[in-house]
Amino acid sequence: MTKDELWQALLAQIQFNISKANFATWFKNTGIMFKKSGEVIISVPNNFSKEWLENKYNKTIFKILHSLDEEIKEVKYAVARPELKMKIAPASSQTEDWVDVPQLEFQEFKVNKETNLNPRYTFENFIVAPFNELPQAAAWAVVNSPGLVYNPLFVYGGVGLGKTHLLQAIGNEVIKKSPQKRIKYISSEKFASGIVNSIKNHNIEKFKSLYKDIDVLIIDDVQFLAGKEKTQEEFFHIFNALYEKNKQIVISSDRPPKAISALEERLRSRFEGGMIADISYPDFETRLAILKAKSSEKKLNFSNDIFEYLANNIQRNIRELEGALNRLVAYQRLNNQSPNLEVVKTLLKNVIFSPKKITTPEKIIKAVSFFYDLKERDIIMVSRKKEIVKPRQVAMYLLREELKSSFPFIGRKFGGKDHTTAIHAYHKIVKEMEISENLTEEINLIKEQVYRL
Ligand code: ADP
Ligand code: MG
Repeated sequence: MTKDELWQALLAQIQFNISKANFATWFKNTGIMFKKSGEVIISVPNNFSKEWLENKYNKTIFKILHSLDEEIKEVKYAVARPELKMKIAPASSQTEDWVDVPQLEFQEFKVNKETNLNPRYTFENFIVAPFNELPQAAAWAVVNSPGLVYNPLFVYGGVGLGKTHLLQAIGNEVIKKSPQKRIKYISSEKFASGIVNSIKNHNIEKFKSLYKDIDVLIIDDVQFLAGKEKTQEEFFHIFNALYEKNKQIVISSDRPPKAISALEERLRSRFEGGMIADISYPDFETRLAILKAKSSEKKLNFSNDIFEYLANNIQRNIRELEGALNRLVAYQRLNNQSPNLEVVKTLLKNVIFSPKKITTPEKIIKAVSFFYDLKERDIIMVSRKKEIVKPRQVAMYLLREELKSSFPFIGRKFGGKDHTTAIHAYHKIVKEMEISENLTEEINLIKEQVYRL
């Protein structure tokens, strides 16, 4: 990809993430000034834009550029001198053109501040097939008689398979039927940080009172409560208080209650006391149906070989199916024509990778050292160099997380270190990921790489 093509591809994707006004304001007269050995310099028209892009959009820009070209490791911004600008940014009339490209199905859905519900997630646009029939039916039952049939309702399943969509749909539907009902949707991470903060600020009672009069409490991704004892304790009390009043509790997790380690026994048995429903994986026919439904929502159509290519290659994640489709939509809108299969393959090179997620310690070490620009042996040898410490901890973390390696094994793998070093590294990274979005992002990028090697 040339740097102009790269930038065009980025603009096409950015449009999904921000409003039209913001897009026109901040991305007008931008371009790639320079691209060399993993570094991209983005030209911006003035200092104001520079600051704004750096502070508000840098993460998104980096993420997209990296997904388009994984060599890219760093993004910088520079104000273009006028004479340079002529060359790098499209001429102004052209600029207007792409700014005026019809919005790529961008709709601003407002998340309700009180309930945290996003109106985009409804039952109407939730496709039901054998892989999610049971949780969907259970969700409806909950909507029809909150607190009375399945309490709690515990939905579990892999990433990107519709847990959040279904949970939010329950909330939206209950409100639609009974607007006076009080609903609260919260991710368990937010819940946990709410607890931690209120303990720090000595207003835990006030925090708890927010949950006192809720009719339907929805907790997403409860696996993140693992190991957070204080939060679990508070949650347990809130749970019991609501449960005793026949208030509905809905929970999601990426795994069943019994597989969440470091979950207090009494909480686990509470979760198991209601209805447990799992979302499995959509089969090929279902994936095709999802793609077709989603493209007709966007009023676009693609040929069957393209749909089949996507459905064959993206098997375990509806979010990725949607993401791939969005790229094709962007292409179509920008070029005013449907991509053919060859183009689709190039467009999706970075999205489609082996559906079988298999890796090895060697691949993890390779991906980590590649990402941090280090030599593999630096990571695995006994070295106390400061810049090695974090990458090594990340590698240890990934060995544990992705391969479930034992701590003594991890210790041995990294220059014969003691297992306590591995345990320390693992927990250090887990802790840091809780507070640092950057680290989480970094680790996600490394993981992608791990499964592509
Ligand atoms: P999870 O919470 O399980 O990681 P999400 O609920 O965030 O997954 O779903 C990922 C994306 O896929 C969302 O955009 C969601 O709307 C879409 N999606 C998931 N399942 C369905 C479905 N059954 N029908 C339509 N869209 C779905
Ligand atoms: Mg989710």
